[in-house]
Amino acid sequence: MSTPNQEDYLEAIWRLTQEKGYARVTDIAERLQISQASVSKMLRRLHADGLLEVERYRGLSLTTVGARQGQRLLARHRTLECFLQHLGVSDPEVVYHDVEGIEHYFSAYTLEQLTALVQYIDDNPEWWQHFIQNLPEDR
Ligand code: CA
Repeated sequence: MSTPNQEDYLEAIWRLTQEKGYARVTDIAERLQISQASVSKMLRRLHADGLLEVERYRGLSLTTVGARQGQRLLARHRTLECFLQHLGVSDPEVVYHDVEGIEHYFSAYTLEQLTALVQYIDDNPEWWQHFIQNLPEDR
């Protein structure tokens, strides 16, 4: 991942909270592969924006607004992940790298349409298989 932005932080904090019940600066730094100093700087911003709460003993957690955003960002990541997997991109590292590269650029409407497409593919696997299997060989 290149320099993570606010959305990457919110997604990472939401993921960690879901997985472990809390998010620590060290976990976030490890997850986003950046220094703890950079994490602390962004956390101050998220806190100032009303997205993050710092509880003395329990550590960091997202406010209701922050959690809603984190949830939405994780769902967006997963939708794009599913879409690439449906396209036949099977290397998890490539999927991750590509999703990280494109996820910030979807408008709400485009994402909504893509989510509907992924859902349709899930519901109609034969329809999608027909498409995938009939792609020209030498591209
Ligand atoms: Ca992501």
